[in-house]
Amino acid sequence: MKKQESLTRHIIRGIISDLDGVAYRGDTAIPSSVRAFRVWHEQGVPYAFVTNNSTKSAAQFAAKLTSIGIPAEPRQVFNTISAAMALLARRWPQGTPVFAIGEQPLLAAIEAAGYDLTSADPEVVVLGFDSTLDYAKLRTAIRAALAGAVIIATNPDVLTPVHDGYDPCVGVLTAAVVAAVPSVTPVVVGKPHPFLIERALEYLGTAKHETIMIGDQVATDIAAGNAAGLRSILLASDVPFNAATSIVPDRIVSSLLDLLDATSERAGSLS
Ligand SMILES: [Mg+2]
Repeated sequence: MKKQESLTRHIIRGIISDLDGVAYRGDTAIPSSVRAFRVWHEQGVPYAFVTNNSTKSAAQFAAKLTSIGIPAEPRQVFNTISAAMALLARRWPQGTPVFAIGEQPLLAAIEAAGYDLTSADPEVVVLGFDSTLDYAKLRTAIRAALAGAVIIATNPDVLTPVHDGYDPCVGVLTAAVVAAVPSVTPVVVGKPHPFLIERALEYLGTAKHETIMIGDQVATDIAAGNAAGLRSILLASDVPFNAATSIVPDRIVSSLLDLLDATSERAGSLS
C-alpha cells in the first residue's frame, strides 16, 4: 500500500497513543506495548496519551501507566475530563447549573471549576462513564434534555474493552438520551474530535508529519488522528466496530514493536 510505504520511509519523532486497548486492556498490561514505550522512553522519543476515558484524572492514568512499566507523568495524559472542562469554560460562566453522570474525578473537576453540580434544572448535562449508572440519573438527564439542556458526551464509544470482554460505554448512555429526545444533538468532546490530539501535539512540540496517532478503534482513534493531520496507526484487535470504510489508517500493526524501526535513525533503510 502506498500509504504504508510512505510511513516507513519517515522517522517517527513524536507519538500520541490511546490507552485502553493499546497500553493495557482493563487492568492488564499489553506486554509488547509496554516494551515499545520503554524503548521510546530510552530513545528520548516524546510520547503522550489521549483517552476517551473520564473515570480517572491525568495523575491517576500516569500512575497506572508507571505501575505497568510505562514511564509517564500527568502532563503527558490528555483525557476527556480536561476536554469537557475546556468546553464548559469556553461556553458557560461559573455558577451555571450542570448535571453530570460520571465517576468522582469528573464530578470533582466540574465542581472545582466553579460550576453548580446539581440535578435541579441543569443548563448543561455532561455524560461520562459511570459504573453506578442507574434509572434516576438517566431520568434526570432525559428530563434536562427535554427542557432544552445542552448535552455534552465525553466520548461516543459504545463499547470499552476490559479483561474479560467489553463493557457498555458512554455512547450507549448518549444513545438512550437521544432515543428519548430525538431533537437533541449531543456535543462530543472526545475522539473522533481532534481536540485531545491537538492538546497532546502542543505538549510534544513535534511536527504533524513526524508524529503518529496510535489507536485500536477506527471510528474514534484513527478518525481523530486523521482529522488532526497526523499519520494514524491501527493496533489490530478484536474490537468490534461498524466498519467506516471512509476512515483508513496509514498503517495497521499487530504489535507496537513493529513500529520500533521507524523511530530509529536507520528508518530510511526499511522501505
Ligand atoms: Mg482504545
